[in-house]
Amino acid sequence: MSLKRKDFLKGIAIGTLSLPVAMRAILGKNFAQSTTSNRINTGKRYEWKMVTTWPPKFPILGDACELFASVIESMSDGRIKIKVYGGGELVPALETFNTVRNGGAELGCGAAYYWAGIMPAGQFLSSVPFGMNAQQLTSWILCGGGMELWEELYRDYNVVPLLGGNTGCQMGGWFNREINSLADLKGLKMRIPGLGGRVLQKAGGTPVLMAGGEIYTSLERGVLDAAEWIGPYHDMLIGFHEIAKYYYYPGWQEAGTALEFTVNKEKYDELPEDLQAIIRSAALHVNSWLLAQMEASNAGALSELLSKGVKIRKFPPEVLDQLRKYNKEVIEELADSDPFARRAYDSYSAFRKKMNAWADLSEREYYESISIM
Ligand code: CA
Repeated sequence: MSLKRKDFLKGIAIGTLSLPVAMRAILGKNFAQSTTSNRINTGKRYEWKMVTTWPPKFPILGDACELFASVIESMSDGRIKIKVYGGGELVPALETFNTVRNGGAELGCGAAYYWAGIMPAGQFLSSVPFGMNAQQLTSWILCGGGMELWEELYRDYNVVPLLGGNTGCQMGGWFNREINSLADLKGLKMRIPGLGGRVLQKAGGTPVLMAGGEIYTSLERGVLDAAEWIGPYHDMLIGFHEIAKYYYYPGWQEAGTALEFTVNKEKYDELPEDLQAIIRSAALHVNSWLLAQMEASNAGALSELLSKGVKIRKFPPEVLDQLRKYNKEVIEELADSDPFARRAYDSYSAFRKKMNAWADLSEREYYESISIM
């Protein structure tokens, strides 16, 4: 019997299994060292602000911020009250990270790839094309070393990151022309941000950066030939099905984008340890809720879109194969651009390799087996 196994069985027998290292990372060092800390509850009350990258009252993603605030308020018996601001209400959406970093707000919500201009590595902690799905990415972040990298990455910016949900698999987007071969991507003007846009560019397309609110009109007027946004639920709310001909899958560009809560590190460090644990627990709570809500809402909306006669199309395999090859070049360029991005890429890809081997004989085979029902 191996030493590890002996220790494990002994631990079970006497009920003294210590908190695993990964769990300490999730709950925070202060939680694990609670007996030595002198930051106890003095009854002090906090009124905090939270800035977000989402438009005000944005369904599900904005709701998640309100949920985070309300869970913290009730768990802390009102010792922390949080006022949530949508993008543009207190500061512009893309100033969220800097505002939290500088203490203009104690909390923020967004996704790490929005800050790629400051920290290219953040893209591995939110989403990269042809990357891990929600389940795999959550595993890497919480239990595979991702969170430790994330904390290290944000520490220099005076920010504590918390995993704050996942969009689940997105759709490939709305197209006004059919994609039957790679040639159909040439000259395609598509709203697709970030790394996905660079992949499209390598395929001869023209990625266009455009905020959510402008996409509908641009697609309607032919300024764009195609646009990716999120998935069936949010896309249907905007009404893309009224103006675009085809809805393509899979969402190769975003298979499961991790979202974040951010906390100003100085403000976080000043908190008594029970409030720190409450904030971390609330983030885990929202993390579960958000993905569950996205999946339920997308499945419901897909069914509605199908009943409206929306034409769903699958990207041909040879198109996906070539996009995947271009993507490999894009990701290598990203890793070469920055030492921290290289470290994140190495950790991400080593973890992913093992996860995919496991997924091949678990999820993939399972889905195959139920698809014939
Ligand atoms: Ca998207």
